[in-house]
Amino acid sequence: ILNIQDLTKTYQSTGQTLTVLDNINFSLEEGSTNAIIGPSGSGKTTLLGLCAGLDRSSSGMVELNGIRLDSLNEDARAQVRNQYVGFIFQNFQLLPTLTALENVMVPLELRGEKHIRQQALELLDKVGLADRSHHYPTQLSGGEQQRVSLARAFSNRPKILFADEPTGNLDAETSEKVVKLIFDLNREAGTTLVLVTHDAELAAKTQRIIRMKGGKIIGDDIMG
Ligand code: ATP
Repeated sequence: ILNIQDLTKTYQSTGQTLTVLDNINFSLEEGSTNAIIGPSGSGKTTLLGLCAGLDRSSSGMVELNGIRLDSLNEDARAQVRNQYVGFIFQNFQLLPTLTALENVMVPLELRGEKHIRQQALELLDKVGLADRSHHYPTQLSGGEQQRVSLARAFSNRPKILFADEPTGNLDAETSEKVVKLIFDLNREAGTTLVLVTHDAELAAKTQRIIRMKGGKIIGDDIMG
């Protein structure tokens, strides 16, 4: 589902070239669960952004569901994202001026789907928030916001879900609930999961752990 070859990302700052990702290679099986771990600054978020088509590589190949993202412009990448990719973030990134229900409706609307209100309500029900559908993000707890963002991420039935420190802003008990939901929804939909985390316990729940340091992959453990 995801094939990365010789991927490099550099930034230019004050006349110097900063290599943030250095010749990354891996491919992920469809329906698999994967974690990317590594110290702060090792390039995890940057890698996720490139894999999800949020950003463009400096060189190398990113192939998602058979589509070469590295050769597409931003508009074309946005279309691929909307069709195949779900994303959840540490800080939730819900649209503050929209209710929970409206946030979940956005991807469905972009896809031109029908009965989007009904579909969005069903998704909110799945994450246990049917009774909060008319609340705005500021009226929801962190755990509730992350559940809304999960409902939104799954609304376009993504082939692959990228989660960047999804429990980073949540307490232990809430994290556990959100993690269970991520894995349950994932299993149910057969989605491929790519999780960036500092949490070794969370990473251990996945089938494969890719370890990064200084922009390189320094370990790749496939369980079982
Ligand atoms: P953390 O766990 O702290 O989130 P990370 O492993 O996700 O870290 P990245 O956020 O991918 O790391 O950042 C990797 C490196 O790239 C960092 O040194 C960062 O300063 C640098 N970097 C990221 N974005 C830019 C940018 N737009 N311009 C210049 N450097 C950047």
